[in-house]
Amino acid sequence: MSRKVESRYDVIVAGGGAAGVGAALGAARSGAKVCLIEKYGFLGGAATHSQVLAYCGFYQQGEQPVRAVAGAGELVLVEMRRVGMDGKPFRSPTTGNWIILLEPEGVKLALDRVLANHGVDVFLHSRVAAVTRTGRELESVVVAGMDGRDRIVGEAFVDATGDANLSLVAGVSLQTGNEAGFLNAASAPIRIGGLAPNLKIDRQAIIDALAAYNISGLHPVTRKDGGIYTQIPGSGDLWWMIIDLPMKDLTSETYSHAERTMRSAAHDYVSVLSKSVDGFQDAYLAQTGPQIGIRESRHPKARYHLTSDDLLTGRLREDGVARAAWPAEIHAETGNPVYHSVGGKGYAHIPLDALKAAELDNLYFGGRIIGADDTAFGSIRVMGTAFASGEAAGVAAANPSLDGAAVADLLKSMDAIV
Ligand SMILES: Cc1cc2nc3c(=O)[nH]c(=O)nc-3n(C[C@H](O)[C@H](O)[C@H](O)COP(=O)(O)OP(=O)(O)OC[C@H]3O[C@@H](n4cnc5c(N)ncnc54)[C@H](O)[C@@H]3O)c2cc1C
Repeated sequence: MSRKVESRYDVIVAGGGAAGVGAALGAARSGAKVCLIEKYGFLGGAATHSQVLAYCGFYQQGEQPVRAVAGAGELVLVEMRRVGMDGKPFRSPTTGNWIILLEPEGVKLALDRVLANHGVDVFLHSRVAAVTRTGRELESVVVAGMDGRDRIVGEAFVDATGDANLSLVAGVSLQTGNEAGFLNAASAPIRIGGLAPNLKIDRQAIIDALAAYNISGLHPVTRKDGGIYTQIPGSGDLWWMIIDLPMKDLTSETYSHAERTMRSAAHDYVSVLSKSVDGFQDAYLAQTGPQIGIRESRHPKARYHLTSDDLLTGRLREDGVARAAWPAEIHAETGNPVYHSVGGKGYAHIPLDALKAAELDNLYFGGRIIGADDTAFGSIRVMGTAFASGEAAGVAAANPSLDGAAVADLLKSMDAIV
């Protein structure tokens, strides 16, 4: 980060995924001076660094698409349409849930633009590596950037790193994995090019080819149903989720091993298809990653943890600042998610306290690290909802004296759905 850059902000947002973008927009639209710090050279989080190519959570379950998220999320969709993406609800034929399909390069451009339009200072290639704190307050973040290390002072901070990396270096209490300490497998969607035009994919042929590979192959496939695949909008490429890698812990050593295994497995599987499945003769591995996808890593301690009961009964509350509408998607068994519908009106309120650190007074959470039990986590972690929880965290961080109901009013004045 250049020494010319102002290094004092009202709100500092760590992480540039859906939650971080929502938080930066929420804080900036509240009149705060905001910076966002992102370790990669682009924004988007899992959508762009792990090829998670659908926004879930913008709509409730049901025959018709009923919106659950607007505000900052809507600003992003508008910008996505300006750069040529569809941005419309699409009903998944596999689950019946409403999603918005993504094209990652369009997402990157749209997010650059939406933050620039709102005066957010974005520092890419910059990783939050340490903090300074006094008592119950964070004072500054230390950022490892392309030109060494810099200290940025802030009034309030939003951890939107997905992995609670700001909370980790701040010394906040964290739960690793789920309540039983179990870590989900990491999944790695891959992109395949070179398919025959208008190919009608024969799922059974894929299943058979992988079953034959499993007899002596180096990386046996755990998904026996051929995985999940879809054609990427605007391209002839196929998106394929077939690789799941057990994670024993969250060390760099384990991540490094998983990344290497994923790449080796991806090459094997595409080669298997190209040798034995019709239409794949010229197929090639167009892209992995840039990194494996982690659904769940660490949960920092929040003042309130949304419960299974809150979600499944669709509990509404005065201090609700965002809606959780995606059915709880539980990945207990690799490759076989089970969905539990949200009760009540089809959404549950996320209270402001789920976005506030229990142990620090000026640290807020957005996205998949907000306070939630195992079942509620299966709902709140999706990216549409992350825009909304991030936006609420940003608004609260910019207005620390407001209670949940007042934050909700402010969000509504910004066209958010609460
Ligand atoms: C395989 C898989 C499939 C999924 N399928 C879907 C789906 O179809 N639809 C859906 O909506 N959700 C899906 N999810 C869930 C969803 O992708 C995540 O829960 C969501 O991205 C969370 O958003 P976030 O902004 O909280 O975190 P992230 O998207 O993880 O973004 C966090 C950002 O913080 C940055 N960061 C991390 N540490 C630092 C640091 N120290 N300094 C600076 N920057 C940092 C990261 O680079 C990243 O850009 C899936 C997840 C996985 C793994």
